[in-house]
Amino acid sequence: MTKYTPKFATEDCEVYCNICNKTITLKKGDEIPLCCGKVMEEM
Ligand SMILES: [Zn+2]
Repeated sequence: MTKYTPKFATEDCEVYCNICNKTITLKKGDEIPLCCGKVMEEM
């Protein structure tokens, strides 16, 4: 079983889901969210 370790934005950035093509803007310190069962990728 894989343990999920939350990741946090180190600066203002955008993260992207390559499954549903959604983009979310994060601020520094925000937790990088899950989308479609995966951690969103920093752009
Ligand atoms: Zn998604």
